[in-house]
Formats: sequence, structure tokens, C-alpha cells
Amino acid sequence: MGYGSFRGGVHPFRGKDITKEKAISEYLPQGDLVYPLSQHIGAPARAVVAAGDEVLAGQIIGEADGLVSTNVISSVSGRVRTIERRMLATGVISDSVIVENDREYRPAPGIGKSRDPEGLTKEEIRTAVKNAGIVGLGGAGFPTHVKLAPGDDGAIDYVIVNAAECEPYLTGDYRLMLEEPEEILAGLQVLLRLFEKAKGVIAIEADKPEAIKKIKAVIEEKSLSQSAEVCTLKTKYPQGAERNLIFTITGRRLNSQKLPKDAGCIVCNTATVHGVGQAVLKGLPLMNRIITVTGDGIANPGNFRVKVGTNYGELIEAAGGFTAQPEKVIAGGPMMGMALTVPDVPVTKTSSALLVFRKDPVAHVKPGSCIRCGRCVKACPCRLLPLKMWQACKHYNLDLFQRLYGMECYECGSCTFVCPARLSLTQSFKQARMMVSDQRKRAKTTVSDRKKQQSSRQRQKDSQAHTAVTGIFSGCGGAGRDMAESE
Ligand code: SF4
Ligand code: SF4
Repeated sequence: MGYGSFRGGVHPFRGKDITKEKAISEYLPQGDLVYPLSQHIGAPARAVVAAGDEVLAGQIIGEADGLVSTNVISSVSGRVRTIERRMLATGVISDSVIVENDREYRPAPGIGKSRDPEGLTKEEIRTAVKNAGIVGLGGAGFPTHVKLAPGDDGAIDYVIVNAAECEPYLTGDYRLMLEEPEEILAGLQVLLRLFEKAKGVIAIEADKPEAIKKIKAVIEEKSLSQSAEVCTLKTKYPQGAERNLIFTITGRRLNSQKLPKDAGCIVCNTATVHGVGQAVLKGLPLMNRIITVTGDGIANPGNFRVKVGTNYGELIEAAGGFTAQPEKVIAGGPMMGMALTVPDVPVTKTSSALLVFRKDPVAHVKPGSCIRCGRCVKACPCRLLPLKMWQACKHYNLDLFQRLYGMECYECGSCTFVCPARLSLTQSFKQARMMVSDQRKRAKTTVSDRKKQQSSRQRQKDSQAHTAVTGIFSGCGGAGRDMAESE
């Protein structure tokens, strides 16, 4: 299986040797826990607790609010101190529930209750995933229960476990495959119950032979070869990007307007699949993340199982603190992560790593001028023209940026990585994409507002003529508003 690889991409320094032999160790938080109500794609959750309330581990403290939204779960027991706005590692400010940790970790009723998957209907599986607050843990944060409801279950040919972990330095998924392969495959079997025609594919890069061996051994041992197989991928960044992965495995191409389901695929990250298994089979909601803390600026690098909501500052202490004053701290991988200016931000569902470097190679480099070498074009996995997109950004020409298919860029950072002029290409594209998205949202809102005004006028007329059906019309209006908000 597999089409080998995709066009473009780069080969950055892997940096995984620092932590790949470090077993996952559990870290229990000491301070307050911060739970942002917006740590996923879609509408923020709605707080269902108030200051002073007692909470238990596994309790829902924020309820999904809209079609694309998900629950927020308390990972500890304790008392709600307050609900206030806090900054996340991404720089986004979100309303957050702050919980004072009593360090007793008392579970909420029903948490950890095992279930037999044979007795569960598809709807029950999807509801269990929704209640558990599971989102795409590879970084996207898209609510998993929405992804698992593509409309036509029979049109799905592949359920792909994205175990590429192509970002340099990250080893959390790798350790999970070595230490808990049975749980990952149990999660995959749960997913396959939803899509009867689909084949399970665990996609792993070739530089992880131990993980490949381990997963293959469990497939063999549990006689799962009819439903699951390992696909070995070429080691190349960004092999784990959804569009690249689908092309590499199936030969089917997608653009930004399409979803994996349009290519007959459901793609979930390793930790997400593990989380689905835990939620459905063991009744455990998403309360932990595995975080790789690494880099030459940290005393004891390692992989930590951490409660969602834990302060990054605590994690730095857990890993022995800084070896020297670092010049760069990054939340996430070096290619797509965000530079942290303060460590006082919480671990969220989509956190994956904390990188600490004594020197910041980028800070000492002065950007030059484009020399039209074409390296960025060769590296771009989306077949774009980064040098031209850069010119468009420089002149604030968003129309040209769109005509150059700039919205197809998924900000992988490959062009910036290869650029000899050290231009901050990806950063510019990120900003341009945000501005275009804002423009489009505003335009959509204007059109939808106009439609709402028209339909409101129509409703007024209808209401005067047929007062008996007013309730039905107002119900439809509510649903439409939900959909608009969730987009
Ligand atoms: S890699 Fe940099 S210098 Fe070379 S063409 Fe692209 S933008 Fe210009
Ligand atoms: S950041 Fe965008 S333009 Fe640059 S290589 Fe990646 S996909 Fe292409």
C-alpha cells in the first residue's frame, strides 16, 4: 500500500534522539488548572459551572455550544476559583475556567466504567466521543465526533491513523506506539465499527522501525490483519499533513475546499485514536496529553503525561528547569509551533511539545532580498509559488495573493526553512490568510444578515396571515443561526 511520498517537502534536523528513549512519565499538577472554553475549532464551549462550585475529575465544566463545538472537561477535582479571560500559547485570549486543585483527583460518577463495544450502536459510540470532549490532537483541534459523522458511512474506504509525527523533536506519539500499542489498535477497531466498508491504515514514517515492529506485532497477535495494516511512509516533512498523507496512501488528491471524507478517508492522529478507545471502552474523557519537553535549554528532557490545564511553567520545573537563560521557547514543534514569550499559559487539548533552546538561530539573522533561486517552489508540497505570494503580501495585495492560490497554503513552514534570504514567508502567508478569512467572513455575514432581514420581513407578513405557524418559523431561524455561528 502507498504511493511512496508526495512532491516537495524538506528534511530538517530531526532532533528526536534526545527524548525518543524516554518513557512517558506522569506529572501531577501542583497549582491551579486553567481550562480555556475555546481550545478547539468551532464555537467556544459554554461554562456550566460558576465560581465556588466543587468539581470532580472527568466532570464536564464547559458544554459544546453549537454544531461544531465540544465539551471541556475538568482533569482534577477541586473548586472553581473563577471564570476569566486568559491567554493561550497561540496568543489567543479565551474565557477560561480556573480550578483550584485539591490534589485528590476524585473521579466524577461513571468515569472509568468499562463498556463492551459489541453492545454499542454507532450513535452511542459517537455520543461517547462527544461527551469525552475529544478533538484532533495532532494540533488542529477539530471536534472528533463531527469528523466521525461524515453523512454517508458507507462512502468511507479508509480510516487512517496519522502516526507520522513528522515535526522535528516530537516523540509523544512514538512513545505511545511503543508503550500502549494495544490501546491504539483498540481505538482503531472502535472507529472501524462506524465505517463497515473501511480498512484501517496506521501510517508511520520509516525512521520509527521500533514502532512499526510493535504495531505489526499487535496486529498479528490479535489477528487484526483483515481490518488493519501498517503503511510505512518516507521520512520527510510535512508527511503528516492530512492532504499529503491521503495522497501518499490512496493516490487521491484534495484541495483546501475539500475534506478527507470527500476522498473516502477519515484521518485521526495517534493520540486521538488512543483517546477514542479510552473514551468508548473505558469511559475516560480527554483529561491528559503527552507533552515532549526537550531542547538544549532544558535540564532533563522527557515525555510527560500531563493533565490538560497544567501551567507550562510547572512543566519546565518538572523537566529540571532551564540549563541557562533560553533565547527561544516554543509551544509545539519548530516548524509549526508558536514562540512563547511567557510560560504562564496552560496545556490545552492540542498541546504536543515544549521546546527550549539556548540560542535562537533566527533572531540573529537579517533577512535579505529574494534572489529568485526557486527553492521555495521546489519545497512547497502544495505546488504553490511562495516567492510570488511573498511579493503579493509585501504590497498588501490580497487579491493577487488569492489568485496565486495563497489560501491553499497550510503554513507548513517548508518554504521558510529552505529560503537562503531568510525571508519570513510562512509568517506573511499566515497573516494574509487570516486577513482573507476575515474578509470572507465579513462578506458572508453581510449576505446572511441581508437574508435574515428579508426572512424576518417575510416572517412578519406570514405571522400576520398565519399566526398558528409562527413557532415553526422561529425554530428554523434558531437552527440557521447556530449553523452560521459554527462556521
Ligand atoms: S527561496 Fe527565498 S530567495 Fe529563493 S526564490 Fe524563494 S523567496 Fe526567493
Ligand atoms: S508554508 Fe505554504 S507556501 Fe510555504 S511551503 Fe508550506 S504550504 Fe507551501
